[in-house]
Amino acid sequence: MIIVLKPEVTKEQQIQFSEMLKENYDVKVNVWNGVHSTVLGLLGDTTQIDIEYIDAQDIVESVKRVQEPYKKANRKFHPENTVIDLGNGLKIGDGSLQIMAGPCSVESEEQIVEIAKSVKKSGATLLRGGAFKPRTSPYAFQGLKSQGLDLLKIARKETGLPIVTEIMRSSHIDMFESVDIIQVGARNMQNFELLKELGKIDKPILLKRGLSATIEEWLMSAEYIMAGGNSKVILCERGIRTYENFTRNTLDISAIPIVKKLSHLPVIVDPSHASGKSWLVEPLAMAAVAAGADGLIIEVHNDPPHALSDGAQSLTPEQFDRTAKKILNLKQSLNS
Ligand code: PEP
Ligand code: MN
Repeated sequence: MIIVLKPEVTKEQQIQFSEMLKENYDVKVNVWNGVHSTVLGLLGDTTQIDIEYIDAQDIVESVKRVQEPYKKANRKFHPENTVIDLGNGLKIGDGSLQIMAGPCSVESEEQIVEIAKSVKKSGATLLRGGAFKPRTSPYAFQGLKSQGLDLLKIARKETGLPIVTEIMRSSHIDMFESVDIIQVGARNMQNFELLKELGKIDKPILLKRGLSATIEEWLMSAEYIMAGGNSKVILCERGIRTYENFTRNTLDISAIPIVKKLSHLPVIVDPSHASGKSWLVEPLAMAAVAAGADGLIIEVHNDPPHALSDGAQSLTPEQFDRTAKKILNLKQSLNS
C-alpha cells in the first residue's frame, strides 16, 4: 500500500502516523521524503487495512493498494490449486472436468428423476436443480422449496449423482444439510450476511459471479466465506451485464484464466445463464473448457417449451448428450 502525505505534514505527524500503522497492523513502513511530499510504503499483510479509513485521515493526500485486498483466496499465499473432494472419487479442481447438469427448477419427481438419469448417461457427474428460485418477477414460479430439496434427494438416490442447489437465506442452512454443493446465486453474491454464515459450515459452496461484479468483488465474496473458515469455494462465471443485449448476459471467457492466475480456487462456467439461448450453450461450453474451466453447469430440461423457468436456454436430453460428448472429447484432446 502506498500512502502519499499532504505537503504541509510535519515530521512529527509523519512519525506518529507511521507508528500507529505499525502498532495496529502487521506491516513495515518505509518512508521516502521527496521535495514536495512524503510517501509511505507499507510492506506486509495490508488486507486488514481499511483504505477508506486511511484516506479519511487529515494528513493523507492519497492512498493506493498495490496488493490484492483478499488473502485466503489469493494464489500468492496458497500457490497450489484447491481441490474439492466430493467423495466417490469426484474432485473439482484436480485437472478433471466435472459436468453439472439438470433443470433450472425442480418441477416434479418424474421430471427430476428422468432428467437425472439421462444426464448421468450422457456423462454428467453432478445433478443441478433449483428448489428456491430467485426470480425477477414476484409473480413467476418461485420453486418447490423444501419439497424441491426432497425431490433432488430422491433423484440422487436413484442415480448416485451428488446434488447442487441454490440457497437464498441463511436461516435455510440446516435445511441444506444433506445437499452436496450449496449454490450462491448471482443475485446473492454480495449478500454478506449469507456468505458469513456459509463460512461457518464445512460444505462446498458454488459462488456465482454477480451480474455486474468485477473479478475483485467476486474474489472478495469468496474471501468472506473463507474468512469464516470454509475454504471449499468453487467460483462460477455465469456471464455479466454489458451493453450487448443479443444474449442474456455476456460470457466473460477471460475471467477463467484471470481468476485461475489470481486465485487457487476452482472455476466452473455456466454457459446457460451466460447466453440465455440453448443453441449458444455448446459453443460457449467448448470455449470455457478450452480456456481452462474445471467444470460446467448446464441447464437441461425434458420439455423445454413447458419448463417453469429458463426453457429458452435449456438443452433437451438429446442435445445435452451430443454437447456432453463434444465437450468430453475436447477435454480429452486438450489433455493428450
Ligand atoms: C440458476 O442457476 O438457475 C440461477 C438462477 O443462476 P444465476 O444466479 O447465475 O442467475
Ligand atoms: Mn436458471
